[in-house]
Amino acid sequence: MTDTRTLRRKSDNEVVCIACGQVLPRADAREYDKYGDRWDRAGKDFEYLCKPCHRDCCHQPRNGLEETLIRAEGEHADTQAFITEYYTLVSDDISTES
Ligand SMILES: [Zn+2]
Repeated sequence: MTDTRTLRRKSDNEVVCIACGQVLPRADAREYDKYGDRWDRAGKDFEYLCKPCHRDCCHQPRNGLEETLIRAEGEHADTQAFITEYYTLVSDDISTES
């Protein structure tokens, strides 16, 4: 698997869609902030979505998704450990919600 973190930014003017991997001009991309606050820009490195992928995104409230992703990412740098931790956190959430 290719590490998309190293590919995310192609240049100052081009970005990579985090959903489909398409390289597109930054001006044509939609910013995505996993912290859910696009207006607080200090010290942030935004991710990007192409317009078709942005359109396909669910814009309903995501019930803590970003917080869960950040928690899972915390100590797990490699993809497999991250996914394992993510599912552990999600399973915990589901079992405590019901
Ligand atoms: Zn895309």
